[in-house]
Amino acid sequence: MAVPVKKTGVKKKAKGKKKADQDGKLPEPAVEKAVEVADTVATTLPTDTKEATFKSLGVCEELCRAVQLMKWAKPTKIQQEAIPWALQGRDIIGLAETGSGKTGAFALPIVQRLLDDPQRFYAVCLAPTRELCVQIGEQFEAIGSTIKLQTATVVGGLAMVDQAMALAKRPHVVVATPGRLVDHLENTKGFHLKTVKYLVMDEADRLLSMDFDEALDKILEVVPRDRNTFLFSATMTSKVSKLQRASLRKPVKVEVSSKSDTAAGLVQNFLLVPFKFKQTYFAALVAHFIHYSVMVFTDTCLGAQRLSIFLRHMGMKSICLHGNMNQAQRLGALSGFKAKEQRILVCTDVASRGLDVPSVDLVVNYDVPKNSKDYIHRVGRTARAGRTGRAVTMVTQYDVELFQRVEHFLGKKLEEFTELVETKVKASHERVLEALRSTELELREQEEGTSERAVKRKMHKQKSKGGRKRGR
Ligand code: AMP
Repeated sequence: MAVPVKKTGVKKKAKGKKKADQDGKLPEPAVEKAVEVADTVATTLPTDTKEATFKSLGVCEELCRAVQLMKWAKPTKIQQEAIPWALQGRDIIGLAETGSGKTGAFALPIVQRLLDDPQRFYAVCLAPTRELCVQIGEQFEAIGSTIKLQTATVVGGLAMVDQAMALAKRPHVVVATPGRLVDHLENTKGFHLKTVKYLVMDEADRLLSMDFDEALDKILEVVPRDRNTFLFSATMTSKVSKLQRASLRKPVKVEVSSKSDTAAGLVQNFLLVPFKFKQTYFAALVAHFIHYSVMVFTDTCLGAQRLSIFLRHMGMKSICLHGNMNQAQRLGALSGFKAKEQRILVCTDVASRGLDVPSVDLVVNYDVPKNSKDYIHRVGRTARAGRTGRAVTMVTQYDVELFQRVEHFLGKKLEEFTELVETKVKASHERVLEALRSTELELREQEEGTSERAVKRKMHKQKSKGGRKRGR
């Protein structure tokens, strides 16, 4: 059943490791010294950042070909900093901004070392959400496309049986949410992690803030001590640093931004609007950027649903993504947006972190985020991996204080967005009111449809219960 990973003609990294040490290309001794002092190390740049290519970082031919197919022209900063160390067999703690290319930073070295030492259940990668796991799985598959890498993605909300079958095929890489992985460890016959060589904990700060602590402990107990660990996190909280001390060995610390940094190619503005005309300005804003793909963030699931319907009534293609949708609906919405069938994705913060939507040109904060950190994650959906992008936050008279908090967190004042002409915006107010009325009608119909279906389901259940009783 097992299709082995093809061996390559590329030199084994285990051997290459010593050579690199002797060549002195990587400043190993200085690092080791720092390790003694601090237990973790901030890297001295391993290569000249301007000149760096995947090849110069030590990435083998097969994988250079794979990244070429993925149209990654040159390594991102986090990749430049992490890959050489990871290829040397070091544990990594990576502090990286959203969209920095961190998945490639851990997936490339793992797959390359797997080529040197082909083995089933080689790596386990943990991430906090289903969507993020799916994306990480997709990146592993793309990176491993030229070498028949097998990946299984194991997340909540999908059938255990299908996942058990995928695990029975003994993939090389398992990407999982911690809770579901523990479920399989406890209930799927023959599945274990005793041979795992790599453990990745992605978005560790979020893993820990989402009550995955217990599941993480269980996983850490069953993976071998003799393994490599990569821990990636947007922020270094005390919980993350505790996890780091407990699970990493002499890690190299790579950091590409501080927590309140936003990407360099990002233009951020605020749009001051009277509350009464909020939807009118919103519609004008989205119409102003007619050729842009847009992500709109709202505070509530209902808000996202309402706004998405409203945009459709205004003649703009849009879809929503929020926590009240089931897994299949969420993935469907995301893929429709990725495939550019829908220009606008209206979502809650469920989509603000980790989601890989590469071509977002504009982020609109329809509601000012209550938590300033969410602002960073939301606007991190645009201007990813060196591209440019825009973010506009709508501020009404009621949001001024909240918005100032965001500015304080960012450590800078944002400029006002002045590209809309007030008279033109207000001219469309009647049409907006009409669309809002249609939106409310549609929402009510949907609600009635849902409760009607619920009543039918209940009646059907009762009928079949009664039927069974009579039959007994
Ligand atoms: P991540 O931070 O891993 O979620 O990656 C964000 C996005 O950047 C994904 O769409 C990746 O496919 C893309 N990406 C990662 N590395 C590179 C690279 N070296 N060049 C261009 N795009 C990249």
